[in-house]
Amino acid sequence: MGRAQSLPLALVLLFGVRVVEAYECTPVSDADYASIRWSVRALRFSLEAPGSRTMDPLLAQEAVARSFARWSVPDCTDLSFEFTGVVPAGTPPAESNPVIFLDRDWPHDAAAVGLTTMTYRTQTGIIEYGKMELNEQHFRFSDVDTECLDDGRTYDLEAVVTHEAGHFIGLAHPRPEALEGVAAPPTMSPAIGVCDASFRSLEADDEAGLCFIYPLGEAARQCPALPAQTEPLVGNRAFGCSGALGGDDEVAPVWALLALGLWVRRFWRTEVKAACPPPRSA
Ligand SMILES: [Zn+2]
Repeated sequence: MGRAQSLPLALVLLFGVRVVEAYECTPVSDADYASIRWSVRALRFSLEAPGSRTMDPLLAQEAVARSFARWSVPDCTDLSFEFTGVVPAGTPPAESNPVIFLDRDWPHDAAAVGLTTMTYRTQTGIIEYGKMELNEQHFRFSDVDTECLDDGRTYDLEAVVTHEAGHFIGLAHPRPEALEGVAAPPTMSPAIGVCDASFRSLEADDEAGLCFIYPLGEAARQCPALPAQTEPLVGNRAFGCSGALGGDDEVAPVWALLALGLWVRRFWRTEVKAACPPPRSA
């Protein structure tokens, strides 16, 4: 190994815990140190009609397909995706794993560009289905390599959906402290800028999370269980993949939906918020 190659390796050895292992699995709400994942590797998704209203619907469809496919590229995993086509509005998500563009009645935080809701078995963390909603009521989508309106509310669709697809496979946002000083934030970072296409690609940390959960030729993994720690200076976080709950605001919908009598399944909502201009709400 030449010097040019050994230097990056040394950096990984020095800083690898913070930089390479920043990814987080999405925890199961009421089972410590368990996280959600698909039990199969060939995942299907659809696009709910009529699709995007703020960019060419066909270009939007192609961008969505590329975004999911991005997570099947690394050699360390055998995860794959199949686009099953456009489904009629109102098709049950359990049948279609839909991507839905909403240009009115956005039911979530107005500052959220996109939001993914995963439904899983609370006993096992096995995902049943997912739904990705994209906010065209408050924002516009575009292929920013072609054009990006200087209106302060146009976001790169492929970048947003690539991030949301990470949630679709079970990844959560990295811990904030893990992102300090990182030159190229992971695509699973929780904020994206106007006309920013950088989330189209996966960073090393995103690939590490992907291949931790879905290793090539092996069963899907979840966050390892750790015994409780009593020493105050010893953390109880699973290495590189925490079972601790994420943002409290994201947990709330779980309980609201429980009130509807969903005893077996719970929902986890994750969102990517606009970073520029500043989010409209905290
Ligand atoms: Zn997110």
